[in-house]
This record gives sequence, structure tokens and C-alpha cells, in this order.
Amino acid sequence: MSFRNFKMVGYVVYGRGSFNQLDEILAPQRKEGLPMIFLVDHFFEGKPLASRVPLRGNDRIIFVDTSFEPKTSQVDSLANGLKESYGTISGVIGIGGGSVIDLAKAVSLMMTNPGSSADYQGWDLVKYPGVYKVGIPTLSGTGAEVSRTTVLTGPTRKLGMNSDFTPFDQIVLDPELTKNAPENQRFYTGMDCYIHCIESLQGTYLNEFSKSYGEKALQLCQKVFIEKDHWDDSSDDQLMMASFAGGMSIAYSQVGVAHAVSYGLSYLLGTKHGIGNCIVMNHLEEYYPAGVKEFKYMVEKNKIDIPTGICKNLTDEQFETMMNVSMGMKPLWENALGKDWEKIMTREKLRALYEKL
Ligand code: ZN
Repeated sequence: MSFRNFKMVGYVVYGRGSFNQLDEILAPQRKEGLPMIFLVDHFFEGKPLASRVPLRGNDRIIFVDTSFEPKTSQVDSLANGLKESYGTISGVIGIGGGSVIDLAKAVSLMMTNPGSSADYQGWDLVKYPGVYKVGIPTLSGTGAEVSRTTVLTGPTRKLGMNSDFTPFDQIVLDPELTKNAPENQRFYTGMDCYIHCIESLQGTYLNEFSKSYGEKALQLCQKVFIEKDHWDDSSDDQLMMASFAGGMSIAYSQVGVAHAVSYGLSYLLGTKHGIGNCIVMNHLEEYYPAGVKEFKYMVEKNKIDIPTGICKNLTDEQFETMMNVSMGMKPLWENALGKDWEKIMTREKLRALYEKL
């Protein structure tokens, strides 16, 4: 038996206003003449947060479009652009939701690894450590701030650059930054965390390490989305820690059916991760009965719309594409359904599930 020996984030700062410490945190990491590059969610263009970014010397803010999930082509063009302009950089700081967080990790790695990021989609393919990288979430739930992967949509698949070089050197967890997130977005991303917990806690890979973090994250999600009648500062505090703990939980287990199916949706349709998981979770009573019931209650209580009918006009070929992407997520299926998962989740059954979405 071989136990997973996983690499974690280097440094963590947590607290309201901890973003103000960023300048001080970056100072010792700066290299003569080489800029820090801040990748910032375009949502913040012209907003106060953008003016709080501690720019020095030739530092630059690049606003990134997050309408779709990050693509390998987007990573390559950002990294190549930076290499052309500066040769190399002091570091990259991602400020935003899961998409920006993952982009920052991938751009850091592609500053030092040759070729295209698509060459490194998979497990342990990255050859060299990237440049210094920092993750600063402005939406809570994905767990991307702690994960050892960066999920990218490539020419042939949607898969992460999963490696020991992928985790951040530093993360800044400042719950003030999530305060003004759009309500729907906040819910979908929060549900990503809730779904991580359900998939981890109901999975066959479960162990006490994952369970301890998963139970805590689940409890925090329930506080935020069930027990309270309105959003307040403590909701931001709690959901930020839920995201962190949920990420730690899946680090030592795996996600499950909702993720395996939603990866197919985002590959084909560009559906964003959080909402994609919600669309799928809505139809998973058979696999996670209690979790789905509670999920539906949260949707109703928080007055959120979950889209339906998104697969209704797709062709056979498109269904096949989604099914291929989904079936390729072997560890997810094995965690959810056990070693004999292929006997349980047949292609016919998966097709029927996609048709319901
Ligand atoms: Zn997720």
C-alpha cells in the first residue's frame, strides 16, 4: 500500500484586512528589475480592490476574462506574452474566483516549463517548479486555493496540471474580499464546497483525515446556507474556511459523481464549474439522497435558480463527447461507486443522466 504524500500550500495568512499585508509579504520575493504580475478578475476593473493592489516598479495588473473556464490556450498566451516582455518575472498573484486562482497557478508553471500547458494536463507531468505564486480568493468554495491541481480546458480534455509544483507558495484568505460577490455566483461557488463535502464523505476513498475536514466544512456550509436568514460578515468568514477545509478534505480523498458529470458539461458547453455542479447535483438523488435533499432545500431557501434543459438540443455526437470526458475521470467514479464502477455507471445510464440536465 502506498500512501499519498501530498504537497501543501507554503504560507497562509488569514483574517479580515489581511490583504493589506500583501506589499510586505511580496517584498522579500521581489527580484531586481522583474515585475510581480497581478492577474485580477475583470469583475474588479474600476472597483476599489483594483486600486488597493500594491504595485511597485514595473509591476502590472492584467484583468482576465472569467466568462468561461480557464483554457490551456489562455494560459499559454499569458505566459508567452510575459516571457516576451520580461524574460521572466518575480511572481504571479491571482486575485479572483476559482478561474483566476487556477490561471495564476498555471501561468506560474508555464513561465519555467517548455511547450504548452496542454502537455502537462495529467498527474505529475510538470518538470520544473514555477515562479513564485500567490492565491487570493474573492469567492469562496472551490478549494482551488489549497489544491495541487489547476483545472484547464485543453484541445482534447478538461484536466488539471496536477503536480507537487502546483500548490501556491502563499495564500491570502481575507473574508472582506468576498463581501460584495454577486449573490448567485456566491451560491453556486459555495455549493461547489458543499458538493466537495458530500462527495468526499460519501466516497469509498474516505479516511479520518478527509472526514475530519469534510465534516467541518459541511457544518460551516450548513451554517451559512441553512441556519442563517441573511448574509452577514460571519457568513464570509465561515464560507472562506469551509472552502479551505473542503479543499483539504478532497486532497486526501476525491470528488465524485457531480464533478465527473459536470466536467463533461464544461468541456462541451463551457459551463462554469460551480453552476455546472449545481445543475448535475439537482438530479443525483440516486447517488447522494440526503445530500441532494439538503441541496434542494438550500436552493429554495436562498431563492436561487438552477438552469434546466441545457442538454435538450444536443446531438448524439455531442452527448458522446461529454460522456467520453466524464468516463475519463476514473478516480472520481471509483471514489463514488467503488472498484466496479463501470458496471454501475454504464454509458446508457450516463446518457440518460445527461438527457435530464
Ligand atoms: Zn469542485
